[in-house]
Amino acid sequence: MSVPVVTRFAPSPTGYLHIGGARTALFNYLFARRHGGSFLLRIEDTDRARSTPEATEAILEGMAWMGLAHDGEVVSQFARAPRHVEVAHAMLAAGAAYKCFATQEEIQTFRDTAKAEGRSTLFRSPWRDADPASHPDAPFVVRIKAPREGATVIRDAVQGDVTIRNDQLDDMVLLRSDGTPVYMLAVAVDDHDSGVTHVIRGDDHLNNAARQMMIYAAMGWPLPIYAHIPLIHGPDGKKLSKRHGALGVAEYRDMGYPAAGMRNYLARLGWSHGDAEFFTDAQAIEWFDLEGIGKSPARFDFKKLDNVSGQHIATMPDAALLHELDGFLAATGMPALTQGQRSLMAAGMYCLKERARTFPELLDKAQFIVNSRPVEIDEKAAKHLDDVSRGILNELTPHLQTATWDRNSLEATANDFAEAKGTKFGKLAGPMRAALAGRSATPSVFDMMLVLGRDETLARLTDAANGG
Ligand code: GLU
Repeated sequence: MSVPVVTRFAPSPTGYLHIGGARTALFNYLFARRHGGSFLLRIEDTDRARSTPEATEAILEGMAWMGLAHDGEVVSQFARAPRHVEVAHAMLAAGAAYKCFATQEEIQTFRDTAKAEGRSTLFRSPWRDADPASHPDAPFVVRIKAPREGATVIRDAVQGDVTIRNDQLDDMVLLRSDGTPVYMLAVAVDDHDSGVTHVIRGDDHLNNAARQMMIYAAMGWPLPIYAHIPLIHGPDGKKLSKRHGALGVAEYRDMGYPAAGMRNYLARLGWSHGDAEFFTDAQAIEWFDLEGIGKSPARFDFKKLDNVSGQHIATMPDAALLHELDGFLAATGMPALTQGQRSLMAAGMYCLKERARTFPELLDKAQFIVNSRPVEIDEKAAKHLDDVSRGILNELTPHLQTATWDRNSLEATANDFAEAKGTKFGKLAGPMRAALAGRSATPSVFDMMLVLGRDETLARLTDAANGG
């Protein structure tokens, strides 16, 4: 029986959930779901000075918005410190680690001398092979006994074999002189204890892998599979930074990208499946694999994001779209839809969601729904409402009063009316848009009439016809 796949996302709670972190979380999520495994969430809060509960909250909120549900409890790394200490002591007992009594000054002197003599400045502790009987009653740190010969090979699923010469690794500290465990120990112990089989994370952690592997080796634990993914770059090919625009996922939510579009786009940012650009969550889960992760950094491209986002808006079920729209309005502090607007939105979603790449674009099209009577008419639209066109609207209303309220009948009514007036329907469209929506860029006049219904349509046309 094969071991079930377990992945994890292990953010440090020092800020919001940024795009890079969200993508790491997504890859781990997709990989776990693909293999019917578990996706764990561990908050790496050992750095007490930099970790804040607000950042943890922001990360959880970002993941919830992204729809990345984790399995099991959220683990606090800090809370597991006693276990990390226990492992360090087990390594001491097994002779895989040792107590080092070197003082800061001694370490500095060692480095200065090594530098002056042109040798590696990596600290080589004289306590590594010291007889415990010679140990002083003084503060010490616990160091791992790192291999000095040969090389450590990280068999990375993305980077291939990465070889690090062991003489470039020092005997890293596991427990500080105050007895607290270091971060590197915590990561290895937590990953092992929670049964993590695949460590998928940014390639800024590649060097850490060699150090973490030493802990696995010392404890005789089976290694996880490592997959270090290239960081995301900006359109200019430089590492993504504030300079390139928004970095936090919450900012993308506030710009009005639907979470499904964001998932799709982020999945494509560094991973590919043939030439598929647009796909559903189910497809992403079915297809996701480590082989599809590219070795070179992906570039963030707003045009592609817009494109993918628009396709998700266009294809998402209306109810889900409305639900996400509610979330967008709430997140950006805009007023929630009234019951009336909600039902009009639901009725009109079929035409609103075409060609809207973001929620603000969708809301822009929905202006005729959001605006209630008396409809405010903008300057451009007002030009369509002169005395003549007002008169025409006045004459049109009785015809609509009796028309059957479906697309064909409305079109026929409007065309017949235009013909009787010796003109084309196109001539009526401007004044009607102005009357119904107060603006000149709107969904089609018939869509607006169908969505608004007879009473509201007639009321708006009458308002405009009578307007001064
Ligand atoms: N806490 C680390 C970070 O936020 C990730 C560590 C890991 O994935 O092993 O960059």
